[in-house]
Amino acid sequence: MRKDGWYTEEWADQGSAISLRVKEKVHDEQSPYQRIEIYETETFGTLMTLDGLVMVTDRDNFVYHEMMSHPALFTHQSPRRVLIIGGGDCGTLREVLKHDEVEHVDQVELDERVTRVAEQFFPELCAANDDPRAHLHFQDGIRWVAEAQPGSYDVIIVDSTDPVGPAAGLFGKAFYTDCHRALKADGIVVGQSESPLFHTTLIKEMHEALRGANFLDVATIHFPQCTYPSGWWSATLARKDATLAGFREEACRERSFATRYYNAGIHQAAFASPEFLFKTLL
Ligand code: SAM
Repeated sequence: MRKDGWYTEEWADQGSAISLRVKEKVHDEQSPYQRIEIYETETFGTLMTLDGLVMVTDRDNFVYHEMMSHPALFTHQSPRRVLIIGGGDCGTLREVLKHDEVEHVDQVELDERVTRVAEQFFPELCAANDDPRAHLHFQDGIRWVAEAQPGSYDVIIVDSTDPVGPAAGLFGKAFYTDCHRALKADGIVVGQSESPLFHTTLIKEMHEALRGANFLDVATIHFPQCTYPSGWWSATLARKDATLAGFREEACRERSFATRYYNAGIHQAAFASPEFLFKTLL
């Protein structure tokens, strides 16, 4: 936080930054894995940063959490067993548990402190943590997937930090090969894939790694996320046995739960590739 009452996150390599005006810092700890800070901002509600990078704000997290979960879950024909890697703030878990078909969710977060701090400062994101279908584990997600029974999940969601440190391995071919094995024949994996504008090369490398891991179809969806680098974010999906085109549109339109960003039109629009990205991924 700067001394003049602004939290600023600078992206030096991109010559840009984001600032949020803060009222006060309300929490600061060094966990065994990372520095966890919580601020009360003037206009974005509560803010969580990990190692000085924005993870969640009250105001805009719904876009990210809905897009990390609903496109994959409505593309899968019958998502019953779901694995979330990372996701310690529990916002993605809450969205996944809105689906009545989901019977079991394992969430494997490296850092238990992220979840405990989220429970304290983001209680609404953690509202579903006591759902009997939710199983929270605190360990390395790379190891969890490597040791998972073959064919044990319908959908794997990789809700990770940026591809550095312990999260670096969550973007590579070896990890995706383990995901492929841990998924059922019609399984889908989705991972957050950074900014389409700033991280085009990373998205291209993710596509190559997922195809190299034998996924049949790979697609990147995109959505606004104003507190992340460039304000524009993406998730990359891969499916084992079939195309990602098409989804359970009627179930989506008649869903029993509320969303604030995702709907059937957004689902279709999010899969449309901007020209530069389309050409990069050819
Ligand atoms: N929405 C966020 C974003 O894109 O900036 C991600 C939020 S979530 C808090 C990311 C979580 O991934 C962190 O809590 C971090 O501890 C966890 N994580 C990083 N590497 C991991 C690994 N290898 N296994 C499990 N969790 C991991």
